[in-house]
Amino acid sequence: MNVTHQHPFDLPFPVADNRLRVGGVSLDRLAERVGQTPFYVYDRRLISERVAQLRAALPAEIHLHYAIKANPMPAVVQHLAGLVDGFDVASGGELKTVLDTPMPQEHISFAGPGKSERELKQAAAAGIVVNLESEREMELLAKLGAELGLRPKVAVRVNPDFELKSSGMKMGGGPKQFGVDAERVPAMLARMKSLDLAFHGFHIFSGSQNLRAESIMEAQENTFELARRLAAVAPAPVRLLNLGGGFGIPYFPGERPLELDRVGEYLAGLMPDARRDFPEAEFVIELGRYLVGEAGLYVCRVIDRKISRGQLFLVADGGLHHHLSASGNFGQVIRKNYPVRVGNRVVAETPETASVVGPLCTPLDILADKMELGHAQVGDLIVVFQSGAYGLTASPRAFLGHPEAVEILA
Ligand SMILES: *Cc1c(COP(=O)(O)O)cnc(C)c1O
Repeated sequence: MNVTHQHPFDLPFPVADNRLRVGGVSLDRLAERVGQTPFYVYDRRLISERVAQLRAALPAEIHLHYAIKANPMPAVVQHLAGLVDGFDVASGGELKTVLDTPMPQEHISFAGPGKSERELKQAAAAGIVVNLESEREMELLAKLGAELGLRPKVAVRVNPDFELKSSGMKMGGGPKQFGVDAERVPAMLARMKSLDLAFHGFHIFSGSQNLRAESIMEAQENTFELARRLAAVAPAPVRLLNLGGGFGIPYFPGERPLELDRVGEYLAGLMPDARRDFPEAEFVIELGRYLVGEAGLYVCRVIDRKISRGQLFLVADGGLHHHLSASGNFGQVIRKNYPVRVGNRVVAETPETASVVGPLCTPLDILADKMELGHAQVGDLIVVFQSGAYGLTASPRAFLGHPEAVEILA
């Protein structure tokens, strides 16, 4: 059922009796179960299905990691622990979350610039792989390993000498705070030979939120090439080659889903050479939003209907303090609407153009700007789709002191 003319891609939640259904129940029933609005709901079935799609599309020897910063809710991470091959964390806090799951330590890696001494020590003690982002981290980790009487596992995060083209967020190429510039890595590896560190391999992450198969394919090919050059001067054979990820999801009008099958087929074509050149390596793709983003909804309730000089405002009990991304203030240059519906009037019988705003005293608090929606009344449920990644934990929750949102896995 195509209920919108503004978002051409299909939204993966069924509708019955003009109400959205999540986890097998209607959204209004679910709201009663949760006991409050606003809330986030993540659909475990959709997360599992997404992993299955990836397994079907990607070569069998590609291991799938989840970058938990996209959605670190413990129940989500627990669910994924049984589905993916590893986790990537970016802080000591995230490390704690994944160590509470059954995921074996050797399948956990830790990336992120500015790891503190305490975090490095925790990582070494946990026996996970540290993706080194600087020479300082390398020297410090070797010292901490000696103090702990163990040999920390390390990979070098490389700031590549190429870019992931048409990426929503570039995280490699040019000057970056992430990783070590590719041209400096040989000297770093030479120094590593005299340190008591267990070299595992390379982490080459070039960007994020990419919807163009060609760009991802090109980046993967460049990644293998760069890894070949660096492996030639490495202190030990490459056991871990993290190819990054960057698979995007469609958020805005005009965006199309990534053609995953094309990425998978192209990667399959690269694998024979990769296996020959890295016979001991585990190949990893690490994904965040692609695994969880489309499985999540943010739900809030209309608490007022106001008309200001001809424009209709639906004032909701939720807003940017829970969902900064949907407000457009998390890296968007020009604000665009996430897909939004009235969850208990999905098909707009009497459509009206409305702006959904939150309760905060700032004009930035917008969830939908002049969208065509079902005729909403006070008490109706507003749903923001594509909200399973970079939602609650990427938002300024304390701003204005409104109640917290609840998160559930349905
Ligand atoms: C943030 C991040 C990811 C996840 O990015 P998505 O766009 O959510 O897939 C993966 N790897 C690293 C190193 C990251 O920093």
